[in-house]
Amino acid sequence: MSEKVDITILDSTEESFDERLSELLAWDEVSDKSVQETVTGILADVKSRGDDAVMAYTEKFDRVSVTSASQLELDRDSLQGALESLEQSVKEALIIAADRIRSYHEKQVQESWQYKDDQGTVLGQKVTPMDRVGIYVPGGKAAYPSSVLMNAIPAKVAGVAEVIMVVPTPGGQVNQMVLAAAALSGVDRVFTIGGAQAVAALAYGTDTVPAVDKIVGPGNIYVATAKREVFGTVGIDMIAGPSEILVLCDGKTNPDWIAMDLFSQAEHDEDAQSILVSPDEQFIEAVKESIERLLPTMERAEIIRKSIVNRAALIKTPDMKSAVAISNRIAPEHLELSVDEPEKLLPEIRHAGAIFMGRYTAEALGDYCAGPNHVLPTSGTARFSSPLGVYDFQKRSSIINFSDVGASEMGKIASILARGEGLTAHALSAEYRVKQDG
Ligand code: NAD
Repeated sequence: MSEKVDITILDSTEESFDERLSELLAWDEVSDKSVQETVTGILADVKSRGDDAVMAYTEKFDRVSVTSASQLELDRDSLQGALESLEQSVKEALIIAADRIRSYHEKQVQESWQYKDDQGTVLGQKVTPMDRVGIYVPGGKAAYPSSVLMNAIPAKVAGVAEVIMVVPTPGGQVNQMVLAAAALSGVDRVFTIGGAQAVAALAYGTDTVPAVDKIVGPGNIYVATAKREVFGTVGIDMIAGPSEILVLCDGKTNPDWIAMDLFSQAEHDEDAQSILVSPDEQFIEAVKESIERLLPTMERAEIIRKSIVNRAALIKTPDMKSAVAISNRIAPEHLELSVDEPEKLLPEIRHAGAIFMGRYTAEALGDYCAGPNHVLPTSGTARFSSPLGVYDFQKRSSIINFSDVGASEMGKIASILARGEGLTAHALSAEYRVKQDG
């Protein structure tokens, strides 16, 4: 059985191509005023009423009613219990994924450094982890144990003393895999709260939920809007747009593999974007045929169909060089280089969240267990930002330790610059330390 799918096919040599591509890439973040108002109200309420507001919204949105906010916290035994209760194969898969994610992120740890200049002044950088971070794990419509691993493990590798996880449990349904992932990642405390109220509790603190320094993790529009609003009070990781995949293929990979790679992003949501760029016209036709044949067999066929019809494209280019240029323009979240020698293309790739090299490297492996983080910049922001990592949980302090000679020499320079800016106290503060005899 096969069904016709109205997928956009473009030719990069056509005059209208640039315009068509821009239209395809255009993404307006939903700026629904009513969502904004709801979120602002929830944030203000949690800020002033604390736990009482958190309990009220948890009852309203997640249908979980408690008499004390402390009942919204899970004890560590229940996390460990969840891990033990898993089917052996699932438990092993989580452990393997967690170990690989940890090993990869251990390579990212930044170390402090110092050096001495020729005047004996010591300069350096001291790296410290954040004290306490909050991890939002979505739980409204589906559960995401992989999100727990990808957000919590880098924080722990960075040395964050306390990782506080929040996850909504609609109707009181607690997902055992999510709790098991929390146990494996070393999460310190878990609260079964979600939405804007959870973000507010983490940002402002309540009697029960401690205030954190940074909030990371994906969520729906209420969560994203709340994170944007509390930025400044706390740090945030990023505001993620819909998922994207761009596949560059020379035409020699099995077209079913490529169709499924495109689906693997499309099934996330209707706004997800899946693009294939190839110099091989026949291959593009073959992938289209695979899409039409495989789509009806998919469990999430409805979401995939909408995503493919609304936002996907199969793009024909004259050669791989122009395919790479299109990729650099798009700056995709996920980029697959489905070619024989991906290393040859790599130097030309300038912007991408994660680069999946060769025909065997399905993007889905990166979502779960390759090791690198799956929280990646979307909507072209790979032009200026990077995957979530250990460095998101570390901060740097500058170290400056002047010798008397250095203070004297640099004092003269600082004095000139300070007087140029009309800041006399600055100038005098530096001049006091200038040696009078030298
Ligand atoms: P969620 O936890 O983000 O949201 C559930 C919460 O939303 C509820 O607890 C409730 O407080 C709040 N809410 C729902 N309706 C509301 C309303 N009318 N008014 C106020 N608050 C309301 O879970 P979700 O809804 O399943 O969304 C998860 C999102 O996270 C999806 O968009 C998914 O695509 C995304 N996600 C992204 C990644 C990634 O890496 N980018 C990973 C996993 C999930």
